[in-house]
Amino acid sequence: MKYTLKKKNQELLISSSNSIVTEVNEEFINFTGYSRDDLVGKSLKEISYMLRIDAQMELEKIQNEYSCFMFTKSFEPREVTIFCKSSDCQGKKSYIFKENPKSRLKDKFIVTEQFYEHNKIGVAISTLPDGILLRANQKYLDFLDEPYNKKENSIGRRYTDIINGFKESNLDKAVSYIMERGELFHADELKYDYFNRGVTYWDAFLVPIFIEGKAKYLVQNIFEVTEKVLSRKFAEEQSEALKRQKEQLDAIIENMSDALLIFDKDGNYTRFNKAARKTYLDKTNKMASGYTTDDIHDLFDMDNKLITKGNLPLYKLIKGENLSGNRIAVKSHDGVVYHEINGTPLYDSEGNFVSGILCSRDVTENIKYEADLLEKTQYGFLNRLIDNLYLPVIRLSYPDFKITDINQKGYAFVKGLNMEFSSIQDLKGQKYSDIIIEFEKDKILKHIHGIVNNNGNSYSKYIKFIVSGEEKFMKILYQPVIGLNGEVIEVVVIIIDVTNEIKAKNHMEENLRMQEEFLANISHELKTPLNVIFSTSQLFELYLNNDLLIDNKDKINNNIHILRQNCYRLTKLISNIVDLSKIDSGFFELNLSNENIVNITEDIVQSVSQYVQSKGMHITFDTNVEEKIIACDPDKLERIILNLISNAVKFSRSGDEIFVLVDDKGDTVEISVKDQGIGIDKNYLNYIFERFKQVDKSFSRNAEGSGIGLCLVKSIVELHGGKISATSKLGEGSEFKIELPAGIIESSKKSDKIKPRNSKIEMINIEFSDIYS
Ligand code: ADP
Repeated sequence: MKYTLKKKNQELLISSSNSIVTEVNEEFINFTGYSRDDLVGKSLKEISYMLRIDAQMELEKIQNEYSCFMFTKSFEPREVTIFCKSSDCQGKKSYIFKENPKSRLKDKFIVTEQFYEHNKIGVAISTLPDGILLRANQKYLDFLDEPYNKKENSIGRRYTDIINGFKESNLDKAVSYIMERGELFHADELKYDYFNRGVTYWDAFLVPIFIEGKAKYLVQNIFEVTEKVLSRKFAEEQSEALKRQKEQLDAIIENMSDALLIFDKDGNYTRFNKAARKTYLDKTNKMASGYTTDDIHDLFDMDNKLITKGNLPLYKLIKGENLSGNRIAVKSHDGVVYHEINGTPLYDSEGNFVSGILCSRDVTENIKYEADLLEKTQYGFLNRLIDNLYLPVIRLSYPDFKITDINQKGYAFVKGLNMEFSSIQDLKGQKYSDIIIEFEKDKILKHIHGIVNNNGNSYSKYIKFIVSGEEKFMKILYQPVIGLNGEVIEVVVIIIDVTNEIKAKNHMEENLRMQEEFLANISHELKTPLNVIFSTSQLFELYLNNDLLIDNKDKINNNIHILRQNCYRLTKLISNIVDLSKIDSGFFELNLSNENIVNITEDIVQSVSQYVQSKGMHITFDTNVEEKIIACDPDKLERIILNLISNAVKFSRSGDEIFVLVDDKGDTVEISVKDQGIGIDKNYLNYIFERFKQVDKSFSRNAEGSGIGLCLVKSIVELHGGKISATSKLGEGSEFKIELPAGIIESSKKSDKIKPRNSKIEMINIEFSDIYS
């Protein structure tokens, strides 16, 4: 029999045929919110799924009636009883749904409903004991993994299906607890670790709702506290880690090889690690803190100066300085160690100094290495320098001044001092003061201290030595070699030969003295004839004014002779000075012609012989050749020979003989003038040809002189290409030899110009003018 749907029927009805929905009534559509098209044509299985009853029962499996929850299209649960009526023909079935009276949850759980709406905490209602999710706000759904965090995938489903790992989970256990005891379950920070998203924590209230003595619903209020728990756990872990780190750091700081010192703004040390205690404190101090600067050893800078309190590294930091690589020396009973200090001041957010950290490292070994290196390089350099230096150099140990090394030049110098050392090796280790007895140790030490303290200079002084029999003047310089820490390592002695300079200086002084003497001499030489001329003219005036000329004729004649004699002296002096200055300036010229030198010499001897005899002496001429023609300036040669004869006369005594010889030696011709006069001291012999030189005036002499004559003679001889020499014996006489080259010149013939006798006499008078009558 066909079952037809009646319009007036209030029942909810679905008809099916062969498990396919063929019809739904209007009431069913209104009740579920689905359209007819949604439903008609679907299989019963699909309808069971849509109405979300499949988790409880399949429509097809209902025999007669079945009570369960079904859900509207908008996921609202409705507690219904489903009646199944089947007709035998064509597999037709109809299902009638009847909503149970007063079964709507909204009405039952009014309070929960408010939380539900609020969506701040997760609210869910499910069935007990099946665990079918009836209602859940989004906050609750967020608790579930995808895709169950959406209503369409979770409402109407069992927990076992929508919560991963529900079985045996905390939630499962909580539900069992509720079922067993019928009590509310409360848990803070319930750990749930089956989510795909990992471990989560929840504060949960699970409240069972009893209907007719049976637990029928489970109301869940859950609140995720994962973030809170994790951050608390993180904080706990952090603080644990920090604690561990601090302990590690403490151990590292305590045991690190560098010394670490931390201090507060008042300059009190709050932390001294083991190395710091060892370096800066007495052995008895064991604590890691509670020290002040008074407890630490004395500190010195690298110049070995005590660091005053205000300049201690700690106070520098308090003043705001950063320290980097500052080197200091720490002196204790155990000795000195060198430390390199780095330091940083620490400030609070307002920029106030709160504490400072000093880290100091033992660099004693480094300094030794650097010093060694410096010494090695310095020494290497010094050694090379010293070995190659063309100066005597001696290296001395300090402060005992013993020879540690000496170069070849130095060795030669020491040997020259008549020291008996067979090798440089022999000299090493000797006391310097045994070698240089003039060594003024205290004075030199004072200079070295001056150099070390930057307020002195090297010591040097010149000393006269006799080196290998020769007089030498040596300047000795003492130069300290300063080490890295400003200490004197050794002293280098450099010896500089200043003999030439000193001799030149002495010579210059001597020349100056001679010039002064010459000027005094010259002015005397000039004044003497001038005085004579002046007083004679006064005498003549007196005779003239008193008509006494005739009466004094003899006297006047004598005085005229004296007048002439002094005019000659003036003439000689002036012409000698003029010639000398001509020679100096290169304007003195020779008038060369080929002359018979034998004749010239003999003529002069003849001319003066009478005069010489008048002095009680005798002059002899001799020659080994009759004629010797040489290129010469005859006037100048005459002057030379005359000068030598005049000197011989000047320095001979009455009765002495004078010999003038011409010796033809082939290439040269020698003219010698020999006397038996007072002679010349051998000490002066080397100097008589020098300008202005006169033998000591204390020797008695019968003449005046300017000291120019022999110098002029020498110059004229040398202009001829010849040489002059003198030999003499004091008290026995002197011999002057002129050696002239025997060459002739082509352009000149032998001069046949004979000098008028008068002019020769004049010349003799002039040359002999400084001999007293
Ligand atoms: P002066 O014009 O003073 O004679 P000289 O240059 O001619 O100058 O001589 C220099 C010095 O040499 C003389 O002052 C004298 O002391 C010494 N002298 C020169 N000739 C002789 C000599 N024949 N015998 C001794 N002393 C001489």
